Amino acid sequence: MNDMTISPAVEAALPQAPFEGRHLIDGEWRGSADGQTFDRLSPSHGILVSRSAKGSKADTEAAIAAARNSFDSGIWSRISGKERSTFLLKVADLIKANVERMALIETLESGKPISQARGEVSGAADLWRYAAALARTQHGDSHNSLGEDMLAMVLKEPIGVVSIITPWNFPFWILSQKLPFALAAGCTCIIKPSEMTPSTTVMLGELLMEAGLPAGVVNIVLGYGDPVGALMAEHADVDMVSFTGSTAVGKAITAAASKTLKKVALELGGKNPQVIFPDADLDSAADAITFGVYFNAGECCNSGSRIIVHEDVADAVVDKVVALSRKVAFGDPLNPETQVGAIISTAHQGKIAGYIKDALAAGASLKLGGTPVSVPGLPGQFFGPTVVADVTAEMAIAREEVFGPVLSVLTFKTLEQAISLTNDASYGLSAGVWSENVHTCLAFARRAQAGTVWTNTWMDGFPEVTFGGFKQSGQGRENGPYGLEEFLEIKSVVMRIGRTRGNWVRD
Ligand code: NAD
Repeated sequence: MNDMTISPAVEAALPQAPFEGRHLIDGEWRGSADGQTFDRLSPSHGILVSRSAKGSKADTEAAIAAARNSFDSGIWSRISGKERSTFLLKVADLIKANVERMALIETLESGKPISQARGEVSGAADLWRYAAALARTQHGDSHNSLGEDMLAMVLKEPIGVVSIITPWNFPFWILSQKLPFALAAGCTCIIKPSEMTPSTTVMLGELLMEAGLPAGVVNIVLGYGDPVGALMAEHADVDMVSFTGSTAVGKAITAAASKTLKKVALELGGKNPQVIFPDADLDSAADAITFGVYFNAGECCNSGSRIIVHEDVADAVVDKVVALSRKVAFGDPLNPETQVGAIISTAHQGKIAGYIKDALAAGASLKLGGTPVSVPGLPGQFFGPTVVADVTAEMAIAREEVFGPVLSVLTFKTLEQAISLTNDASYGLSAGVWSENVHTCLAFARRAQAGTVWTNTWMDGFPEVTFGGFKQSGQGRENGPYGLEEFLEIKSVVMRIGRTRGNWVRD
């Protein structure tokens, strides 16, 4: 645990007044119809970061109507890919120009380190650039071999009005895995950010207006799952819901959306294993394990929250990870050197501690940490780096998302056992394998039930490479060409271009 102090320069950067967030409906910034607001206090610094309009059913209805009207008008859905692409590139430039402003608010609302918030916002600009490329290059198919008198085309059309509902852990990145792709496809949107982290979504709305987006194409409603998110999921004028968040809420959204059979794309939780074979480069593996479990304080769908390590090297790997864990800079999120910041809420802090207590009571052993820690000068909640060994597959700590800086260690003897432990989960988001033998890596990669398999690395991602989950980690895909396809409807146009077939009704 490194002690961190706020430098005077960073302290001076704290906002003097809370960020005021309003809804964006039909091109106008509006307070809630009933005048209600809600506050977000920083989980690290305890200051009031933002005061936001609290969406009601009436606000949500108005936003959905605006998105529906703008889609049906064709003002966005029927313009050329080139025009959409040009707009998306303009937004990417504006994001780049506003990284500092957005990163500061994101850090204060989420508790994540400022260096990572900067990376998240800046990196997200590249998602907008990639989506811009797709906007110009997406196309359908043609069938020219159906016979002399037939020709068919497969057209790809925007699916329509899309509800986008996002979580608090990577507010700007996750929004950017969805919105530019939906816009590239020609859809119009209603967005609801998490009530914990609403402000960078509002800032993005300001940039969209500055870039000249027509009114109603993107609408933002701030507030809670009930009533805003729930109405966005069930409303008949919405054609698709794109959701990232917990599996429990994903199921509720699927149930609500089923009333109108609208399409649902879900990015949900994970219980992601890294499997370490005895021939692996153990130093590289230990570093990646340390990164994988503490990145974003473990509040990460891709958290490498369990390792499955060959019993011959288990002690060596755990010793290396514990030694590295002691060097990770936990502390004040505003210090540029900090690598791990605050936990999102006190309730969540208690939940993390509960998983560790239950695992120890069931026979697991604590190698490091296990308790909340305090950071000098800050009132917020922080949890220390934690390594729990002797974990068995039936323990909750091995099966459920802890969503904290907590590593569970399980062991194996054979490849079959490693694969069986990997797949013994209701989740299937990502998995990792460490071995110097490419055959071992490929054998694992082909049988792991996971949307992404990292080999000799962890959590590398690119706008070009598709991301999503197997099993209860979700449905549908984001990023890459598939990320655009999600927002497209497929239409076949079948044409008779000659008169070689006689009439059905005989003379
Ligand atoms: P959450 O499910 O509690 O909330 C997500 C969003 O859904 C919020 O905006 C919330 O207000 C809204 N919501 C809540 N109830 C709703 C309802 N009934 N109808 C519609 N919307 C509703 O998730 P969270 O705590 O914000 O985020 C953490 C979860 O997100 C973790 O489970 C994590 O694994 C998951 N996640 C997944 C990915 C991925 O890509 N697979 C990425 C990041 C986070």
